[in-house]
Amino acid sequence: MAKKIVTDLDVCGKKVLMRLDFNVPMKDGIITDENRIIAALPTIKYVLEKGGKVIAFSHLGKVKEEADLQKRDISPVAKRLSDLLNQPVKFINATRGEELEKAISELKDGEILMFQNTRFEDLNGKKESKNDPELGKYWASLGDLFVNDAFGTAHRAHASNVGIAENIGAENSAVGFLMEKEINFIGKAVDMPERPLVAILGGSKVSDKIGVIENLLIKADKILIGGAMMFTFFRALGKNTGKSLVEEDKIDLAKSLLEKANGKIVLPVDTVVASEFSNDAPHRVVSINEIPDGEMGLDIGPETNKLFASELIGAKTVIWNGPMGVFEMPNYAKGTIGVCESIANLQNAITVIGGGDSAAAAISLGFADKFSHISTGGGASLEYLEGKKLPGIEAISNK
Ligand code: ADP
Ligand code: MG
Repeated sequence: MAKKIVTDLDVCGKKVLMRLDFNVPMKDGIITDENRIIAALPTIKYVLEKGGKVIAFSHLGKVKEEADLQKRDISPVAKRLSDLLNQPVKFINATRGEELEKAISELKDGEILMFQNTRFEDLNGKKESKNDPELGKYWASLGDLFVNDAFGTAHRAHASNVGIAENIGAENSAVGFLMEKEINFIGKAVDMPERPLVAILGGSKVSDKIGVIENLLIKADKILIGGAMMFTFFRALGKNTGKSLVEEDKIDLAKSLLEKANGKIVLPVDTVVASEFSNDAPHRVVSINEIPDGEMGLDIGPETNKLFASELIGAKTVIWNGPMGVFEMPNYAKGTIGVCESIANLQNAITVIGGGDSAAAAISLGFADKFSHISTGGGASLEYLEGKKLPGIEAISNK
């Protein structure tokens, strides 16, 4: 069922509660990466231009003790948002109470205010993170409509997303443009893909990705596996993996996944090995049948890159999660670059990246504009790829 989108709501003259993902990295009160603020602008601007009154809010990090109140003060985001919107954003240093309520009642059409970090409510009993019923009800009472555009927290049922949605009235909630894009790309790639659907999985641990592998084994036509997780699969096949990262307790699971896969899983044929986990260590390419005892595999090799490129030919949908090697070190980034290049070369394919490090890899290696969609939520996109229903999305009304 399609979710209501902000454009389905009549926002003019209405108090629009807007849950955004302003969980930006900060150092000493300075925002070090403002991408999430920029990504939120289209939905905010749309509502302001239509004459809505925006009440914006987000969580920022975790709030566990008094000392976090200063560290997790979200007011620098309000300042930056004001610059980017080129209009005042009144900041209320509270998450409830008279000052907030008065400021909301004084908002004029096309004006915006922002209130303090929703997780300040966690200090006394985790009210936000445990979706305290009273809190969701209270926040919902502050507005007429609710727009959720925070995909990064969609896999959590908190008061500021699910709590408000459940209390605002079925007709009055919608997702924003960012959330709409995630649903259109990840949701569609997993549930109604144009075939063939090829999934590329990598990253460090099988244990982080069991759900993703199991779901994609059902949904995808092929699964190409690289990254450190390939070594657990090699052990399942009885191969020597030297000092490579292996999850001993997941070898049996890897075995059963290979059996279930019925030939859908494609494993690397070569790997780049080094004696140490270091960019400066001497390294070389070996066949996966010849990994020496004292060395570890840190990337897929060039033959694997060719193999994966050929498997990708003709793909209509590609889902990529997990780097092929230790891409943070230039000597082990070639496999990940190779996969990015193969995907970039595909014509007429929907190509989607889900996963925090995979997104960071594609962006830092210069491929950001080569994909149809790079997900903005690491944990949320993983759960979406697992085929789970995300509570933050589920709580929004259908069209
Ligand atoms: P994502 O965040 O996209 O889901 P993961 O968190 O699962 O991805 O994995 C990313 C990490 O996996 C990277 O930090 C990368 O260095 C590491 N990695 C990839 N291949 C290897 C390998 N062969 N050995 C050790 N670490 C690896
Ligand atoms: Mg990660």
